Amino acid sequence: AKAAGRGAIRHYDQSLRDRVERRLQVETALREARRRGDLRVVYQPIVELNTGRLIGAEALCRWFSPALGEITPDEFIPLAEDSGLITELSRFVIAQTLADVGRWRQAGLLPEDFVATLNVSPVLVRPGLADMVAEMVAGAGLPTSTIALELTESVLLADDPDVDTEVLKLRAAGHRLLLDDFGTGYSALSYLTRLPVDVLKLDRSFIPSGVGAGEQDGWAVVTAVLRMAQALGMQVVAEGVEHPEQAERLRRLGCDRGQGWLFGRPADADGFTSLLTMVRRA
Ligand code: C2E
Ligand code: CA
Ligand code: CA
Ligand code: CA
Repeated sequence: AKAAGRGAIRHYDQSLRDRVERRLQVETALREARRRGDLRVVYQPIVELNTGRLIGAEALCRWFSPALGEITPDEFIPLAEDSGLITELSRFVIAQTLADVGRWRQAGLLPEDFVATLNVSPVLVRPGLADMVAEMVAGAGLPTSTIALELTESVLLADDPDVDTEVLKLRAAGHRLLLDDFGTGYSALSYLTRLPVDVLKLDRSFIPSGVGAGEQDGWAVVTAVLRMAQALGMQVVAEGVEHPEQAERLRRLGCDRGQGWLFGRPADADGFTSLLTMVRRA
């Protein structure tokens, strides 16, 4: 047993070393990625459940490293946050999204009320963020209402006057605020009455995956969240909608919007242009 124990420790050391090494590799590659142009932005449709109308898109960052292959944002975003690279990465995503949305708008491809949403890392929500966003949006010549911002619960819970000031400045500038991954982080809900959030994004872990009987309990949570949002005057986007039955159920429960593979996977700018063109013609 002792030998096995030592073996286990050695194995643990090895896997820890592997992880540290991977981190270093990924971080080094990420530093070069911006310069080399390996980062891209893809867009996932958001639809109005009642009508099926395309009303927006979430901008998501993609990274293909020639050395390491495709790396998921779940791996590189936390790394970028820890290493300080997140500011540059976010500037890139914002600039790219503004450029793409500007082009679609110029081409007359966007529905009147179309909104593109950007993910805002919690580490970026500090003095200067609102000014940076304002400068970039003004530079692109877009109305602020075209760009919405997805914040995390940790931001709203920070209870830091500097953080609150930035959130309020962003909203005052005309950006709608979404609360991302609602329900996954914390259970304190008092912040919802303290800061002005417009839309809850209900995390996909709340949407029952299967269909049919025996799922009453799963849907009970969704139902409760929808009631609460309604009482607070917030809209809801359900994430991770993969099946028509889920969309129909959500619609009947009064959920406004949906996002997920059922409506479309994230697509690059060209793919999303095709989608917009198809919708326009239909
Ligand atoms: P998120 O903000 O919750 O983004 C939604 C994630 O769910 C995306 O994963 C999307 O591809 C995935 N998804 C959408 N529909 C479905 C579906 O029907 N089924 C399933 N199984 N998954 C679906 P992705 O692109 O891998 O992004 C992961 C996370 O990385 C994002 O989660 C977000 O927190 C972060 N992220 C991505 N891009 C950026 C960025 O530019 N800046 C920041 N700060 N974070 C980003
Ligand atoms: Ca998001
Ligand atoms: Ca989310
Ligand atoms: Ca998520």
